[in-house]
Amino acid sequence: MEKIALVTGASRGIGKATALALARDGWTVHVNYIRSREAAEAVAAQTGGMAICADVSDGQAVSAMFEKIGPVDLLVNNAGGALKMPKGGFVDMPMDYWDEQIALNLNSAAYCSQLAARCMIEKGIHGSIINISSIHSLVTWVKRKALPYSAGKAGMNMFTKSIGVELIKYGINVNCIAPGLVYTKIMDRYSERDIRGFERKIPAGRGGTVDDIVPMIPVSYTHLRA
Ligand code: NAP
Repeated sequence: MEKIALVTGASRGIGKATALALARDGWTVHVNYIRSREAAEAVAAQTGGMAICADVSDGQAVSAMFEKIGPVDLLVNNAGGALKMPKGGFVDMPMDYWDEQIALNLNSAAYCSQLAARCMIEKGIHGSIINISSIHSLVTWVKRKALPYSAGKAGMNMFTKSIGVELIKYGINVNCIAPGLVYTKIMDRYSERDIRGFERKIPAGRGGTVDDIVPMIPVSYTHLRA
């Protein structure tokens, strides 16, 4: 039977690699994006799903997206990222920056997961939800001060556990992956010098590639293979 997945933020980076790996494993994958239409369409052409433009930090946009795609067996909440914190630190931080970052890195997962889970329960789908968190949910990023990003991703970890214990009675698995530094476009804003500095803090002396992350995805849906 056809298995359908939605990967948010799948026009590039970890989301794109995830969508392509799922397609290689026989999934039909819908490819969400916000700006990069051509790139998303190129991914969707290889995954057999739709390229869907929707800002996942906006609950109404997420509802419209789910109306278009219908039920999914697997949801990967991948879209996210840290914008550099405005100058001045937390005490001077404009609260709209906080709201924007929490909406992108935490609310987005709640909006998408609620609609996906409702459909799974209604259709009796023993599905899977995977949240892409970050190492910054676990350690403080002293120099870069991406405070709302870290707080949002830490919230995502607990969100994963909380809905996981609720949804397992419907046969729905919820898991979280928290990557460290991964060489994607998200790193473009940093100088070579910054990146070498990050790498020095990593025991392996280097970051990871999308190919280090993607093999963790199938672990969360092995129960769907039956
Ligand atoms: P990336 O290369 O910057 O890709 C981000 C993706 O998210 C793009 O497809 C982008 O779409 C999409 N996106 C951004 N805002 C969106 C929104 N509001 N609605 C829908 N889509 C949106 O990022 P990445 O490095 O692959 O990161 C993917 C996830 O892993 C993120 O949640 C990030 O926080 C997490 N992560 C990354 C690293 C790392 O070092 N790379 C480390 C830890 C965690 P467009 O192309 O259309 O803009």
